[in-house]
Amino acid sequence: MRYIALVDMNAYFASCMQQAFRNLRCKPVGVSRKPLDKTIIASASYEAKEFGIKNGMATWVAKEMCPKLIIVPGDPWMFAYSSSRIYGILKEFSPLVEVFSIDEAWVDITQVSQQIGSPVKTAYAIKQRIKKELGPFYRCSIGIASTKTMSKIAAEKKKPDGLIWIKDEEFPYWLNRLEVDAACGIAGATKEKLNSMGIKTLAELGKLICPGSGLPLE
Ligand SMILES: [Mg+2]
Repeated sequence: MRYIALVDMNAYFASCMQQAFRNLRCKPVGVSRKPLDKTIIASASYEAKEFGIKNGMATWVAKEMCPKLIIVPGDPWMFAYSSSRIYGILKEFSPLVEVFSIDEAWVDITQVSQQIGSPVKTAYAIKQRIKKELGPFYRCSIGIASTKTMSKIAAEKKKPDGLIWIKDEEFPYWLNRLEVDAACGIAGATKEKLNSMGIKTLAELGKLICPGSGLPLE
């Protein structure tokens, strides 16, 4: 049995800024590039998301949706430094760390889970360790599964501070219900193309790619 955890930091740039600057805490914050009025929101705090503000939105649109929004320029050095500290922590749990982006990485927690007791306890320990080292604003969602794809799907399911374990026996349940764009790398045009071929769910896509996989379809 393998346990793969995908650790995804929540609202990463905005959380870094809220941890570093007290005046930004518990407020709608959008992290952006200079000049602030001619760019996009790279990362919105959870308080800003409550107003419907999404990452990638034009700053002027975001400001219209939430006039109280505090737009701050990001600090790439701080984001990279915090990220390297987070990955340092992950490497203490397992030497098998695969970095996916500045705020996401897979960790093979199979061995350490035997020592700690369970994969859920291990994921909880990772969360606690990151908060203790970097501060309570560094929250993450962790998805656990036996494959990288399913661990990423699990991590997406609950934010912020989520922890979901999808066991192998639950794969059919999820795959039958998830649309194709739930998988990493499938979006927009690819989704439309697949849908036009009559492929709506991940289970249907699985059958197309590996017809002999024997995945039970409902
Ligand atoms: Mg993230």
